[in-house]
Amino acid sequence: MNMPILTIIVPCFNEEEVLGETINQLTTKLRELVTDKMVSEKSKILFVDDGSKDRTWHLIYKASLNSEMVKGLKLSRNAGHQNALLAGLFSAKEASDCMVTIDADLQDDIHAINDMVMKFNEGYEVVYGVRSSRESDTLFKRYTAEGFYKVMDKLGVKLVFNHADFRLMGKRAVEELVHFAESNMFLRGIVPLIGFNSTSVYYERKERLAGETKYPLRKMLAFAFDGITSFSVTPIRFVMLVGFISFFVSLVFGLYFLTLKLFGNTELGWTSLITSIWLIGGLQLIALGLVGEYIGKIYKETKRRPKYIIDVDLFNLPVSRKLMNM
Ligand code: UDP
Ligand code: MG
Repeated sequence: MNMPILTIIVPCFNEEEVLGETINQLTTKLRELVTDKMVSEKSKILFVDDGSKDRTWHLIYKASLNSEMVKGLKLSRNAGHQNALLAGLFSAKEASDCMVTIDADLQDDIHAINDMVMKFNEGYEVVYGVRSSRESDTLFKRYTAEGFYKVMDKLGVKLVFNHADFRLMGKRAVEELVHFAESNMFLRGIVPLIGFNSTSVYYERKERLAGETKYPLRKMLAFAFDGITSFSVTPIRFVMLVGFISFFVSLVFGLYFLTLKLFGNTELGWTSLITSIWLIGGLQLIALGLVGEYIGKIYKETKRRPKYIIDVDLFNLPVSRKLMNM
C-alpha cells in the first residue's frame, strides 16, 4: 500500500514556553509513524508562526535546521488562529496527501494522530478529533463552550460537538477549502460543509503544558459571536420578532392607558412613559447593532483583503541562514 505523506500543522502565537517540548513530542510522534510505516518518510511538521512577539520563530527556525522533518512558515503579522491554520493548510497541500492541524500547547492528544491516519487510510477524507471530556477545562470554559455548541445547533449550524481545530483533512478536502472565499473563515463550521466521507476519533483533552491561553475571554466571545453571525441569520430574525412583540405590547399598553384617561382616572405618572421609552429605545439600539454587525460583515467581505501574508516559507522555499536575519 502507498503510505500517505502527512503534514502536521501547528499554529503558534507567542508559544516560546511550550514550543521546545511540542517540537520534541511531535517529531518523536512523526518518527514513530514513519517507522510503523503508517505515513511516508516525506512527512513533515509545519509550524506556523502567527506574528509572535517572542522567540517562537527563532525556535522554529532552529528546529528546522536540526531536523529535515521540521518546517516553518512565518506570517507577516498576527492573522489569528483560523487564518494561521489556513496559511499552513494552503502552503502544505501541494506536497501532502493529508494534513493534521493541532494546537501548539499539547492540549490535544498527539497519540490520536495514529487513529486519524488509520481512518484516512480506510478512506475517510476528514477525521474530527473530538474531546471525550472537558475535565481539564475550567468550569466556566466548559459551560460557555457547551452553551456555544448548543446555541449553534439550535441556529441550525452543523458543528461536530466538542470538536475544535484538531482534525485530519485529506488533500481533496483542503483543495475544496480554497473555494470558500469568505474572509472570516470559521473552520469548524466550514469543514462539515465540504462533505465527503468523514468520521471522528475521541481523545482526552489535557491541560495546557505551559504558557497562557491565547484566547482570553474577550477573544473567546468575539470568536463565538463571529462563528454565530457568519453562519446564521437567525439572530437578526429573532430581533425582528422581539420588535414585533414589543410593538404589540406597547399597543396594548397604549389602549389601556387611553381607557384609563377616558374614564376619568387620570392618575397617570410618567413612570410608565419613561420605562417604555427606555425599553423601546434599548430594543432599537440592540436591533440596530445587530444589523450593523451583519452589514459590517458584508463590508469586510466586499473588500476581499488577503487573510494572511506570508513572510518566510521554509516549507516550499528553504531560505538560507544569511537571509534569515536572526
Ligand atoms: N493561536 C494563533 N494565533 C492567535 C491565537 C492563538 O496561532 O492569534 C494558536 C495558539 O498558539 C495555539 C492555538 O492557536 O496553538 C490555540 O490557542 P490556545 O491554546 O491559546 O487556545 P485555548 O486552547 O485556550 O482555547
Ligand atoms: Mg490551548
